[in-house]
Amino acid sequence: MKASKFYFKTRKEVSQDEAAISAVLLTKANFIEKLTSGVYNFLPLGLRVIRKIEQIIREEMEAIGGQEILMALLNPRKNWEQTGRWDTFNALFKVQSKYGSWFALAPTHEEVITPMVKNFIHSYKDLPLYLFHISDKFRDEPRSKSGILRGREFIMKDLYSFHQDEKDLEKYYNRVKKAYQRIFRRCGLNALVVESSGGTFSRFSHEFQVVTPAGEDLFYHCRSCNLYRNKEIIKNTKKCPQCGGPLKELRGSEVGNIFKLKDKYSQSFDLKFRDKNGESKNVMMGCYGIGISRLLGVIVEANHDANGIIWPPEVAPFEYHLMGLLKGAKKEDEAIKRQVESLYEKMLKRGIEVFYDDRENVSSGEKLVEADLLGLPYRIIISEKSLKNHSFELKERKSQKVKMIKLKDFDKIIKGR
Ligand code: ATP
Ligand code: MG
Repeated sequence: MKASKFYFKTRKEVSQDEAAISAVLLTKANFIEKLTSGVYNFLPLGLRVIRKIEQIIREEMEAIGGQEILMALLNPRKNWEQTGRWDTFNALFKVQSKYGSWFALAPTHEEVITPMVKNFIHSYKDLPLYLFHISDKFRDEPRSKSGILRGREFIMKDLYSFHQDEKDLEKYYNRVKKAYQRIFRRCGLNALVVESSGGTFSRFSHEFQVVTPAGEDLFYHCRSCNLYRNKEIIKNTKKCPQCGGPLKELRGSEVGNIFKLKDKYSQSFDLKFRDKNGESKNVMMGCYGIGISRLLGVIVEANHDANGIIWPPEVAPFEYHLMGLLKGAKKEDEAIKRQVESLYEKMLKRGIEVFYDDRENVSSGEKLVEADLLGLPYRIIISEKSLKNHSFELKERKSQKVKMIKLKDFDKIIKGR
């Protein structure tokens, strides 16, 4: 991609009310733009990261049998009344049609998927079933200072599983837990599995927490027995409820959570199946969420320095940042440009994801500052000096290590993902 043709202009200033460092860096670097409190536009760079995260999630969901669907966001009021959540779901956005009827803007999808699968699940032969959905969600959250970590419109992946019994649900729940660990690792994150109160339907559910000062959740770690547990269920925050050891308080952001719903929603919608003996039983359900737009922010919270973002390779919008250091001397500049163009063409042909800063009206100094802000994993530079030595400069964003490499070795070194 050529910067001169790309929807791309970095910003020096970000509005004062943007407190989270992720929102500040992502706005400055032109990944996102705030429309209003808790509502963001994703610009080409931001969307590329979102797509990469989604791709990782799709692969891991399909690997555990998930089938993708896309459910409606405009939900009829009666579905939400059937579960009682029309009145009890605090953050529910309610909208009225000018023709009279009321709708909820979906904050989660149990009210849609449970009646939907009634048309499919009749017998034990139809189970288990795993369906997932990637799309926007709406929640009327109180104003927060967390930027895209807490949106009023945000992107979520939600998976729902349907089972004959609790044993099968438990087995799948543990498979999802492992898939989640793979997803977060691939996103460059160390997500801790934290036990949390499962409310009325099961003793524990699990949250995946990334330690960051920008997080809104507190949880505790016991080093003696390696227990991680959410604040809400720990009465004495000094002592581990499992082994009595001392607890350490941690602050984190929840990037995902998994939950055994058991038959709570099957009961509401009368979702039943006939077992092997012809007996009618409630379907057991699990639900499993990942905050995709929150992940975009958490990845930045966990991977940045004073100069900007440091993308983990698998979710970087491009792998390479390519530029020539022009000096304003016509002859030398032409030679540099020719060399950079030829590397660019070569990389494109080989399917390498490269962001080529070919802009004429931006100084080399500014381009270098912007390259650090954008945070692509590798930077390739051709300068007058490197060209004299038939070389290019390769810099790793993370380690800041610079290597001079001979142009003839380009193909050997620059391989792409
Ligand atoms: P939280 O505790 O952060 O409010 P939650 O427990 O209500 O989240 P779920 O309903 O389980 O979250 O949603 C699944 C995932 O969606 C969460 O783990 C989180 O990563 C993400 N998420 C939830 N609410 C928001 C939001 N307002 N903005 C961005 N992501 C969100
Ligand atoms: Mg939560």
